[in-house]
Amino acid sequence: MYYGFDVGGTKIEFGAFNEKLERVASERVPTPGEDYQALLDTLAGLVAKYDKQFELRGTVGIGIPGMESVEDGAVLTSNVPAAKGKFLRKDLEALVERPVKVANDANCFALSEAWDEEHQGKESVLGLILGTGFGGGIVVNGHVVSGGSHVAGELGHTRMPIDAWFYLNDSCKDKDAPLFGCGCDKKGCIDNYLSGRGFEQLYHYYYDENVKAIDIIKQYQQKEPKAVEHVERFMDLLAICLGNIFTAFDPDVVVLGGGLSNFEAIYEEIPKRIQPHLLSIGKVPHILKAKHGDSGGVRGAAFLNIQ
Ligand SMILES: [Zn+2]
Repeated sequence: MYYGFDVGGTKIEFGAFNEKLERVASERVPTPGEDYQALLDTLAGLVAKYDKQFELRGTVGIGIPGMESVEDGAVLTSNVPAAKGKFLRKDLEALVERPVKVANDANCFALSEAWDEEHQGKESVLGLILGTGFGGGIVVNGHVVSGGSHVAGELGHTRMPIDAWFYLNDSCKDKDAPLFGCGCDKKGCIDNYLSGRGFEQLYHYYYDENVKAIDIIKQYQQKEPKAVEHVERFMDLLAICLGNIFTAFDPDVVVLGGGLSNFEAIYEEIPKRIQPHLLSIGKVPHILKAKHGDSGGVRGAAFLNIQ
């Protein structure tokens, strides 16, 4: 039995998955605000409860919005104050008396999709989240590639490619390409252009209006000229940036999650636009919408322990 925890800022989602990777138990509890002991007790309590219910010892995987320090295993996160700077894995291992795996929630999202029946057997699956931020996870042969410092897949904090910069400069005769600052203190990270927030920020830059992404999409569907121009520009920008990312990873399958992944035009437009941005022998991967939605985090956390 595989137990997974998706630990978020406000809630913890638990899921138990059997050998066929079917979900056989679910539970959702609030995340203790700043109380680390309460967080440990909550996690250990759920493990004990379901061990008893199923009469076995499940494996334990945890997805968090953050990562473990490579040096000492301390949790680096700003969204879960109770876990920040704590040795969550080691402390929980002592309580539940078994190994615990901890991974970034975007990696868990990618892992969840990679273990979907449809994709099993594919060598590499790239999960990309186009949500509040832009991030992702890389899964090779069913396992997350987290990298030497646990930052693999943090694609939002790669800088915009030079061809994207030239493209933006040429795309509007009245305005230069915008150089947006990033929360990581760098400038030009693609997080600020390709996320749902970036989608809105670009609209604001070009049209001096604050419009929510969902409303821009509605206006695009009604063929409102500004929204059409904006989406055209965004699709080209996305294609250029994804072209670079695909050249680096050459994934078999790309699965999109996050709010903007519900924008159906992406699945029509990107395959049409991306080839010029790949090497001539580079194939356009299958680009699909994530299947498991909000449960991707807990599924992927559980699947960290698949051997
Ligand atoms: Zn950044």
